[in-house]
Amino acid sequence: MLNKVVIANRGEIALRILRACKEMGIQTVAIHSERVQQGGFIFVGPEPDTIRKMGDKVSAIAAMKQAKIPCVPGSEGELGNNDAENLKMAQKIGYPVLIKASGGGGGRGIRVVHSEAALLNAIALTRSEAQANFKNASVYLEKFLTTPRHIEIQVLGDGQGHAIHLGERDCSMQRRHQKVIEEAPAPGITPKQRSHIGELCVKACRDMKYRGAGTFEFLYEDGHFYFIEMNTRIQVEHPITEMITGFDLVREQLRIASGEKLGYRQSDVHFRGHAIECRINAEDPETFMPSPGAITLYHPPGGPGIRVDTAIYTGYPVPPYYDSLIGKLIAYGETRDIALARLRTALDEIVIEGIKTNIPMHQRLLRDANFIKGGTHIHYLEQHLAR
Ligand code: ADP
Repeated sequence: MLNKVVIANRGEIALRILRACKEMGIQTVAIHSERVQQGGFIFVGPEPDTIRKMGDKVSAIAAMKQAKIPCVPGSEGELGNNDAENLKMAQKIGYPVLIKASGGGGGRGIRVVHSEAALLNAIALTRSEAQANFKNASVYLEKFLTTPRHIEIQVLGDGQGHAIHLGERDCSMQRRHQKVIEEAPAPGITPKQRSHIGELCVKACRDMKYRGAGTFEFLYEDGHFYFIEMNTRIQVEHPITEMITGFDLVREQLRIASGEKLGYRQSDVHFRGHAIECRINAEDPETFMPSPGAITLYHPPGGPGIRVDTAIYTGYPVPPYYDSLIGKLIAYGETRDIALARLRTALDEIVIEGIKTNIPMHQRLLRDANFIKGGTHIHYLEQHLAR
């Protein structure tokens, strides 16, 4: 087993990792604002090569096609500089199309184009933004799906050719391509669909000898899954998977990094109940402007099935330098209705004073008839906010 881990993260996830290390008797060192890569360190995560390949969306899509994973119809690779060819390509895919930066992330580097007249300018603009933001001017085209859901598959691989999947998460509640509420399992996805898409991801992991925790992100429309990207790390929304499987994903990451084989087979993974996560952001609930500053009072919610992953406390200064996530409120229930009811109560209970948060928005959404019904698409939240 690893004996000491440098935690190059901050906020709620640093605390999450620290807790898993403590439980496993691993010493920890926390660092801030720097990444440390030096001889003698073991990185808890995939091989640098895998990270590089999956970090570039064009090469990730190419790898997925090879593994027979369905992808969004698009430009089959990076766009060249030939305007006529690019126009022809977009015409073939059919408008609206998306221009995406290969090196993009966090919802940045994505632009919708509705008509031919706007294409060339939009490509040039996305290219220069991509160069400035990601130091990579490569862009590609994808069909813009009009009402898909975002459904992703959690995987674990041990780097020795063994891999399992831990089911799916529905992350369709988004604003500006950023997830706001996530839930597992995804409403309406059948066990047969789950094992079909899950097995495809597992096979891809085996083929690339994937090491660590990972997520295959898909758009889901009319019963079909379309791969969009792979994340080679623990994700913000990992707790909901832990709640319905009983797995400790960070513990598994540490075991795998220690060179241990996967301790589980697919048949050891059982899904039970339903979990929903609200991302609590320090921002104005109407304008979404960041709201940094000191938290003058923090009172956490509690009760059966409630989990809060956060690093805040009364007196905590929310820094202006990072994204606005300050905590995650997760509710588990035997059924989706129970999870929803617990989450509503917890949102009414939690008190964060001194700064503005998006809690009022969550309170409204959890009482919204369409969200309660389940299965809303990725544009639903923005349409709802516009109303
Ligand atoms: P990032 O790496 O920035 O998170 P993704 O490729 O994962 O970028 O896309 C982020 C979000 O953008 C998706 O969850 C979805 O809401 C939207 N999106 C991405 N691709 C498409 C597409 N082809 N059609 C419609 N929406 C898309």
